[in-house]
Amino acid sequence: MDCIFCKIATGEIPSQKVYEDESVVAFKDLSPKAPVHVLIVPKKHIQSVAHFQTEDKELAAHIFVDVVPKLANELGIAENGFRVVMNTGDDGGQTVHHLHVHLLGGRKFTWPPG
Ligand code: 5GP
Ligand code: ZN
Repeated sequence: MDCIFCKIATGEIPSQKVYEDESVVAFKDLSPKAPVHVLIVPKKHIQSVAHFQTEDKELAAHIFVDVVPKLANELGIAENGFRVVMNTGDDGGQTVHHLHVHLLGGRKFTWPPG
């Protein structure tokens, strides 16, 4: 499958990895929108959060229970706060169709999003 995040997950395309385990990889966004901007990506190709299956429950919990707080702590953004974003589908502004969690921090964000 010609998927950029699958290729980053296998190392075929280089990235600045900040975390990796058996099911997930996290790396710096190529075009950061904040002082800290990493993408947390499952190694399994899942198109978006709308495509999660029951079998992905453990993976989803792993991302949000284990990886997001761990990386927020390690990257120094847990105390002041941060933003977790999953752009989904065309209206959601998703440009890479392999599920990813944006973890952004190091500045104050506004609401509502554009
Ligand atoms: P989306 O727009 O789908 O929510 O987010 C895709 C993100 O992937 C964007 O923030 C974009 O900068 C990032 N991105 C796209 N291609 C690459 C790449 O080849 N390497 C890295 N590190 N980030 C990428
Ligand atoms: Zn993929």
